[in-house]
Amino acid sequence: MIKVEINNISMNYHSLTAETPALADISFGVKEGKFLSIVGPSGCGKSTLLNIIAGLITPSYGKIVINSGDKSAGLLKIGYMFQKDQLFDWLTIWDNVLLGLKINHCITDVNRETVKNLLISYNLWEFRNHHPRELSGGMRQRVALIRTLALSPEVLLLDEPFSALDYQTRLNISDEVYEIIKKEKKTTIMVTHDISEAIAMSDEIIILSNRPAVITKHMSLEFGENFSCPLKRREAPNFRIYFNEIWKELNGNA
Ligand code: ADP
Ligand code: MG
Repeated sequence: MIKVEINNISMNYHSLTAETPALADISFGVKEGKFLSIVGPSGCGKSTLLNIIAGLITPSYGKIVINSGDKSAGLLKIGYMFQKDQLFDWLTIWDNVLLGLKINHCITDVNRETVKNLLISYNLWEFRNHHPRELSGGMRQRVALIRTLALSPEVLLLDEPFSALDYQTRLNISDEVYEIIKKEKKTTIMVTHDISEAIAMSDEIIILSNRPAVITKHMSLEFGENFSCPLKRREAPNFRIYFNEIWKELNGNA
């Protein structure tokens, strides 16, 4: 089943003096439970596209269909995670992960229990009374993910979620985040400018051109079952083949 359909999306930003075309006729679908990454040059419109999918901005043309327009989908929730973890330093980890629920007035015993179990599953429970500054960058990013998951979103949008982390942490945390997302069976759309990261984590990759962005390629990735997690995939024989294919596409087939 197609979970999220992006249909003919175009976006022009307007100011008093100028018009900036950012996206031109973007269409693709994401199947339920799949992980799709969007790669493209800086400034091409990737964050704009995520903001449109999240419903934060209205596109100039086109529409987003979720759950095939199923009317009950009004309850569908979208979780959004950014490059900065947006944790509040004056709140404990526990209060940070409960914050979304609190804002949405849905703190219940059941929800509290769910969040507790997420923290336990992902080895953060013993840090619940710590403050964000006492945690490593990788742990903070995991806390941010759990805060997002606390609202039980059906679709996750990730905008360069690891780019503030150093290389080593980034490899490990992308592995952990991948495992959490797959275990929780979330449909995910991630924006990244890191080709390797996209290949290591995704079922599908979309490549965007320079602004105004069009889709230049839509790839489905296949790895054998021996390459089940991002770290292992980096060692798969076809990893390099995919890398070269995307590299060429981004660099004008040079
Ligand atoms: P990316 O995430 O791929 O780096 P963005 O989606 O942030 O790109 O931006 C795409 C283009 O749209 C850029 O040229 C940017 O300057 C422009 N842009 C983004 N947001 C606005 C806005 N609110 N008003 C005008 N132009 C914008
Ligand atoms: Mg961006």
